[in-house]
Amino acid sequence: MNNTPNSNRKHIAIFGNTNSGKSSLMNKILGQEMSLVSDVEGTTTDPVQKAMELIPVGPVLLIDTAGLEDKSELGKLRIEKTMEVLKKTDVAIFVLDASSPDFEAFDRWKIEALKYNIPFVVVANKSEVANKEIVETLKDKNSNVICTSTVTDIGIDDLKEELIKILEKEDDEKSLIGDLVPYNGKVVLVVPIDSEAPKGRLILPQVQVIRDCLDNGIKSYVVRDTELKEALEDLKNVDLVVTDSQAFKKVSQILPENIRLTSFSILFARQKGDLNAFIEGVNKVRNLRPNDTILISESCTHNVSHEDIGRVKIPKLLEKYVGGKLNFEFRVGHDFPEDIEKYDLIIHCGACMINRKTVLNRVKSCNDKQIPITNYGVILAFLTGILDRSTDNLI
Ligand code: SF4
Repeated sequence: MNNTPNSNRKHIAIFGNTNSGKSSLMNKILGQEMSLVSDVEGTTTDPVQKAMELIPVGPVLLIDTAGLEDKSELGKLRIEKTMEVLKKTDVAIFVLDASSPDFEAFDRWKIEALKYNIPFVVVANKSEVANKEIVETLKDKNSNVICTSTVTDIGIDDLKEELIKILEKEDDEKSLIGDLVPYNGKVVLVVPIDSEAPKGRLILPQVQVIRDCLDNGIKSYVVRDTELKEALEDLKNVDLVVTDSQAFKKVSQILPENIRLTSFSILFARQKGDLNAFIEGVNKVRNLRPNDTILISESCTHNVSHEDIGRVKIPKLLEKYVGGKLNFEFRVGHDFPEDIEKYDLIIHCGACMINRKTVLNRVKSCNDKQIPITNYGVILAFLTGILDRSTDNLI
């Protein structure tokens, strides 16, 4: 359980004003002391996160955020960080201090939660000291209010049950490969071992596809591009070949037309994001002109080599396609800019280190502002002329 990457965990985040008891509530849900709890306002500064197993949902990530009414100097920055967390949240808990609820703060936050389509539970905490009339007003305002007390433990189990109910309803994450290949089917995974390949290990997307094959009773064969031809001669009735995007063109030439081909990035684009939106976005590449501005958004930090896919390969191919220089800007890590209007195209990485909600909210921001967005795998397939083949039967 502890080895499940955070990107594969459902994210449950706790929001509310300072001193409403968010940290104590997180500790009660976890059943341990994790967040720093104190009566001094604003004790939680950066979001604090902790992985746990929420039976029967499975692995989740619990996130405690800074107070929304943080009056300290760094308050504005903290609130910005808190709102960033909202964009990756699968289910939110809004905590009100039941002895003196701040409805205005809740109403302001609710607008944001609805904007990003985040389901939420409202908690009236400190119910052991709450005025009964206030609790009734709260219930009138929100039918799904749960009264909790971290002193008497009242409502904690009800809260967990409500979270499970919402998460089970929301659980629409596609399998990476299980719905594309039948049980007992055969998949060949092509992993080039070049200077880009990390020494002595496979990268996370490759490992996750192998695991998905195992989960679904699909037989997977892992080969380098240099041995693919021989592997296809050894094997009969291959259902699907999945390749590293960088070897797309070479693999496509080796592979007979009757065998389906896709890439690790496209499988992730489909599972982690919105493949339709990425295909729609990539078609806007036809309208790009020299000097246009492109954002390359990478969700984790890694060393950049002379063959780096986002820094070198895609920019080179794109400039060749457009016939002139383009202005590339790079964003690395978990932040995604608000001022996306200045970009003519956004190219997102495969997103293996972040959760689906984050990618879907980024796609949504782009759609709202009519900025085309695509991802590495889709744009590489487009630029190498095999987009149709690699996305056939996947949408
Ligand atoms: S840059 Fe993106 S696709 Fe590459 S490893 Fe990081 S999260 Fe995964």
